[in-house]
Amino acid sequence: MKSENCIFCEIIQGKRPASIIHQTDRVIAFKDIRPQAPIHILVIPKTHISTLNDLTPEHQDLIGEIFLVAKELAQQLGLAEKGYRTVFNCNRDAGQDVYHIHLHLLGGRQFYWPPG
Ligand code: AMP
Ligand code: ZN
Repeated sequence: MKSENCIFCEIIQGKRPASIIHQTDRVIAFKDIRPQAPIHILVIPKTHISTLNDLTPEHQDLIGEIFLVAKELAQQLGLAEKGYRTVFNCNRDAGQDVYHIHLHLLGGRQFYWPPG
């Protein structure tokens, strides 16, 4: 999917409302609109990348930054000790719904494995 039709690009551009909780030059984090846990945040790159399949070596630092932001937020929100889950869904079988990569940060309840 191209960035013109992307709801997450609209959030980045300020064209669509979102509960933004953190941003850096390259990354933005906001609350998931349909939370699956007491804390459910999406951490996304400000540049449009449709799926994990589209990553290239030049995205290495960006992906690292996304995880560092997730870790920092988990710490700030008191999840670090108890635990939390981070998920990237890729394509249909994983249930990817929005084709702009996003790291789910989920916490505040018990999660199970396998995820189903
Ligand atoms: P995925 O299934 O991994 O693609 O996850 C997409 C996530 O985006 C879902 O958890 C949705 O609830 C969430 N979502 C969709 N639209 C919005 C929006 N406008 N603001 C915040 N989260 C959204
Ligand atoms: Zn996008």
